Amino acid sequence: KKMVYYFGGGKAEGSADMKMLLGGKGANLAEMTNLGLPVPPGITITTEVCKDYYKLGKQFPEGMWDEVLEGLRKIEKEMGKKFGDKENPLLVSVRSGAPVSMPGMMDTILNLGLNDETVEGLAKSTNNERFAWDSYRRFIQMFGNVVMGIPHEKFEEVLEEKKREVGAKQDVDLSAEDLKDVVKRYKELVKRETGREFPQDPYEQLKMAIKAVFDSWNNPRAIKYREINKIPEDYGTAVNIVAMVFGNMGETSGTGVAFTRNPSTGENEFYGEYLKNAQGEDVVAGIRTPQPLTKAQKTSQEQTSLEEEFPEVYKELLKIRDILEKHYREMQDIEFTIENGRLWMLQTRTGKRTAKAAVKIAVDMVKEGLISKEEAILRVDPSLIDQLLHPMLDEEDRKRAKAEGRLIAKGLPAAPGAVSGKVVFTADEAVELAEKGEKVILVRHETSPEDIHGMHAAEGILTARGGMTSHAAVVARGMGKTCIVGAESIHVDYDREEFRVGDVVVKKGEVITIDGSTGEVFHGELKTIPAQISGEFEELMKWADEIRTLQVRVNADTPEDAEQGRKFGAEGIGLCRTEHMFFKEERIPVVREMILAKTQEERERALEKLLPMQREDFIAIFEVMNGLPVNIRLLDPPLHEFLPRTEEEFERTAKEMGLPVEELKKRAEELHEVNPMLGLRGSRLGITHPEIYRMQARAILEAACICKRNGVEVLPEIMLPLIADEKELHELKKLIDDVAAQVFLEMGVEVPYQVGTMVEVPRAAVIADKLARDAEYFSFGTNDLTQMTFGLSRDDAGKFIGKYVELGILKGDPFIHIDEEGVGRLIEMAIELGNATRPGIKTGICGEHGGDPRSINFFQKVGVKYVSPSPFRVPIARLAAAQARI
Ligand code: PEP
Ligand code: MG
Repeated sequence: KKMVYYFGGGKAEGSADMKMLLGGKGANLAEMTNLGLPVPPGITITTEVCKDYYKLGKQFPEGMWDEVLEGLRKIEKEMGKKFGDKENPLLVSVRSGAPVSMPGMMDTILNLGLNDETVEGLAKSTNNERFAWDSYRRFIQMFGNVVMGIPHEKFEEVLEEKKREVGAKQDVDLSAEDLKDVVKRYKELVKRETGREFPQDPYEQLKMAIKAVFDSWNNPRAIKYREINKIPEDYGTAVNIVAMVFGNMGETSGTGVAFTRNPSTGENEFYGEYLKNAQGEDVVAGIRTPQPLTKAQKTSQEQTSLEEEFPEVYKELLKIRDILEKHYREMQDIEFTIENGRLWMLQTRTGKRTAKAAVKIAVDMVKEGLISKEEAILRVDPSLIDQLLHPMLDEEDRKRAKAEGRLIAKGLPAAPGAVSGKVVFTADEAVELAEKGEKVILVRHETSPEDIHGMHAAEGILTARGGMTSHAAVVARGMGKTCIVGAESIHVDYDREEFRVGDVVVKKGEVITIDGSTGEVFHGELKTIPAQISGEFEELMKWADEIRTLQVRVNADTPEDAEQGRKFGAEGIGLCRTEHMFFKEERIPVVREMILAKTQEERERALEKLLPMQREDFIAIFEVMNGLPVNIRLLDPPLHEFLPRTEEEFERTAKEMGLPVEELKKRAEELHEVNPMLGLRGSRLGITHPEIYRMQARAILEAACICKRNGVEVLPEIMLPLIADEKELHELKKLIDDVAAQVFLEMGVEVPYQVGTMVEVPRAAVIADKLARDAEYFSFGTNDLTQMTFGLSRDDAGKFIGKYVELGILKGDPFIHIDEEGVGRLIEMAIELGNATRPGIKTGICGEHGGDPRSINFFQKVGVKYVSPSPFRVPIARLAAAQARI
């Protein structure tokens, strides 16, 4: 099989659709070559080779090296240079490229092919001695670090020492002679650290570099990134070996990265940054802060844009931007280098973007005729919709904070949202505090892949250095974390655990607020307001609504939540948990009275007090949901949850109730359950204490009658929880119907209502045909159904489920993503059985899975009619439901 693919001279053996084989980078380099764009010639070693390499115990498969050499000859021919040549040497870059982009995760080597002899040739052929030696010292540093495993800092120390000796402020102040000395010292360092000479044979260098790229597929950072982003282990990486072009040849050279549209806002504007006289890695590493690509992007007079500095190159880039967008029909993230005024394209890939940008770009591209509505919908990851719904800073509070001088710094707005938290300086501290439930902001000079776990744990990230494409910016955007980078006025002092801005000192543990949409950093906590939803978002949602067949309701127990859900497009309430209405300070005493009542009359009296309270609750919710169905579930939790727990509470409650403490304790003891999740819950309560359900049914139906009289359209659904048997259901349905008949008679109004059951006990799913005789609808309580099907406690499983996922025993946490094989099978079966008795029976999901895109896809497949998530997940569900249809 073919192991190496060539591209160059306007023709490539590969193409963009060969990502699995050539990796993203290799496939796109081939594609750009075929498009006639200026790409330096190169070869791609396939991902298959990487897999074979591991299968053979880290050995190159037979024949690979010959193919590499053959490819190298073609590159030499195209470039008119020879690898290892003393006069005019060809140099190459060696880079990894997996099928899925893994930014900053894998290692890159530039200037490969330099040695003590070729460096002289490079100096002569470019007529630039300083450049040649600078390239050589960079190569030794990169190769020494990535391939030979010498810590980066050791090289930096040598460089700093030299700078001190000759009084150079910056790297560029070092002369060719200085750099020669640095190279000498670097080589000594390599010898000291590894016990061997720095390899002088370019072919040996190349072999070692290829091996290093393959090895880096399994470095801990790469493994972690794959884990977080769910990238399969067995993809492997390709290796790209590309002729070097130089951005560091002097003032007419440079290197940059750009997005074909603004990755933060989605605006259709060219957006990027570049560094003059620099090599590729300088931009991404965030060591020097780059300059803007366009005039429009400038934020100060001191900046010089590429548009002004290199007008010809800019024009060519604009053309390429157009070609790429039309060709890929997608926003691209490109890397380019200018060598002595000539433009070279080094990479193109689908650009990462904020959720806001994703929505805007998708909608704009439909309007521009580039993609269809369906494609637009598929392009927005529903789980990132959260970002759009992120809080923003309250403008008044922002003004106030500014007036008070609390705006302490400004950086680049890398990822939106406004968050507050305690300052920490290391990733480990971020994790530690977050685990204790603290909100933290991770503050760093810059971040590196070693900081990923900390970024994950933090509310937001703030860095002193770097540009919009620095590691911190790219990773945070992907994670949906608020992030500011390149806040240059901040001096981070890790040793003293503080950062300083002017004379303001912020110590570890102090609270700051960062606004990732403006780049502003405030001292202290600022007020935030819920996110505003853009016109494009509404438009995309409208398209999603046109396509989806699965309805989306909302889980809401208060008028506020109901309103929020309705604003987000919910088509009804799928679950109103009435116990949440009881957990209110002023109601608890009455609820306790009801629970602890010794006689029927005592209990009735307490219930009479609760009735009007419940009725008011329901009226308020019905009014908000005017015209839409509201599914109310009768009381579910174990009774002892309402009882006092601490000594103090017992005493206070006893006093309130006029009972001796001892008696109260005795009653509580009686009600105590070892496993309340399987105890006197749900309808079992209705069977043993019918007066409670009677009161609730009355409150619901009276509220409905009152609303109807007031011209509100009410569609109440009354739902029985934890049903396991048809006789249990029959009994309770009769109870509700009797109350209804009575209420309608008393009120002189009739309201259509339905009685349904939750399916959340496995037995209910198995006998669903029988339940459907009485139940007018099914609502799957997938939380309990998962708990009981697995025999896994909802409250405790978190402690060990991670281990199961880690070991691959479970594909994911079954409380997040529905277990299709087991729990999902029960749902499928219950729907079939239900339909046999009651054709077209209404079925919904009211467990947490109703807001999970992966689960929604499954629910669509098995014919569920609606899902019902929490309010902020309603838009996610609408989009996911549309995607499930496409
Ligand atoms: C469920 O069990 O999935 C459900 C929705 O009910 P609760 O979470 O209140 O038990
Ligand atoms: Mg439940």
